[in-house]
Amino acid sequence: MSEITGTVFNIQRYSIDDGPGIRTTVFLKGCPLRCPWCSNPESQNPQPQLSYRYTSCKQCGACAAACPNGAIALGADGVVIDREKCVVCGTCAAACPENALQIKGETMNVAQVWKVIRRDAVYYETSGGGVTCSGGEILAQAAFVAEIFKKCRDEGIHTCADTSGFGTADAMNTILEYADLVYFDLKLADPARHAEVMGVAPDVIWANLKLAAERGVKIVLRVPLIPEYNNAPEQVTALAEFARDLAPDAEVCILPYHRYGANKYASVGMTYALDDLRENTDDELTRAREIFEGFGFTCTVSK
Ligand code: SF4
Ligand code: SF4
Repeated sequence: MSEITGTVFNIQRYSIDDGPGIRTTVFLKGCPLRCPWCSNPESQNPQPQLSYRYTSCKQCGACAAACPNGAIALGADGVVIDREKCVVCGTCAAACPENALQIKGETMNVAQVWKVIRRDAVYYETSGGGVTCSGGEILAQAAFVAEIFKKCRDEGIHTCADTSGFGTADAMNTILEYADLVYFDLKLADPARHAEVMGVAPDVIWANLKLAAERGVKIVLRVPLIPEYNNAPEQVTALAEFARDLAPDAEVCILPYHRYGANKYASVGMTYALDDLRENTDDELTRAREIFEGFGFTCTVSK
C-alpha cells in the first residue's frame, strides 16, 4: 500500500451523521478556514496539539512533574499549559492517570487507516454505509484522502468526501476521482462577508463546487444556519440562488446552529467567540427549508 501519510485527529467508527448508513469517519487535521461556529476546533491547526480536559483532571500534579520543559503547572483551576514552551512531546499525557491530557493529531499511513476501516466492513454492507473523510479540510491532504478512497473503491466500499471546498482544483479533482458522494459546505453568499468571517475569499470554493457539479458527482450541500450570520431570509435566498447556479442537481441539508463544540475550545487553548449566540427557532429552520425548496431543491433539516 502507498507510503503517503496524513495527519489524523480522530477515526470515528459507527458514525451515522456523516453520510448514508453506518460509516467510519476519518477526521483530518488542518483547516484554512476559521468559521466561528466550528464544532471541531482541534481540527483547525494542522500540527498535533496537546489537549486538556478539565472535567477528567484530579489535579494530582503528575503531568507537571513529568514535563521535561516546564511547560505545565498545577493552578487553582486545574493545570495551566504554557503553549509557547510546549513541544507536544506527549510525556505529560503518558503520565496522566485520568486521560485528561491527550495529543490531538497523529501521522498515519493509508495501511494504518485501512486497518481501522476494514473492521466494520460487515456494517457498511448491511447498512448501506461506508467511509467518510472529513476535517479539518480534506483538500489540504488530497493525495492521502484519494488513496484511502481508492482502496475503498477497490473493495466496494462507498466513499463520502466532506469538504469546505477550499483548496486547489487539482486537489478537488484528485479526490473526486474516487468519491461517490460529496458533502459540500455552503455558508455565506456575500464575498466580502465570507472573507471577513471565515478568513478566506470564497472564489475557489465556488469554483470547486462548480467543478464537482460538472463532474456529475452526487452532492449534498450542507448549510450551517447561524443566527446573525446567514439566518435572514435574504441571506438564505442568496445562498439558494448560488446553489441553483452552481450545483442545481444537489440536495440540500440545513444544519441548525448548536454549541456542541464550544467546550472543546478551551481544551486546546482557544476561545469560543459565540458564547452569547442563540440557537435557531423552529420557524427559522422551516423558513430556510422552504426557501431552498422554492428553488427546486430537495431539502432536509438535520437534527
Ligand atoms: S506535551 Fe511535552 S512539552 Fe508539552 S506540556 Fe506535555 S510534557 Fe510538557
Ligand atoms: S496528571 Fe492528569 S489528572 Fe493529574 S493533574 Fe495532570 S492532567 Fe490532571
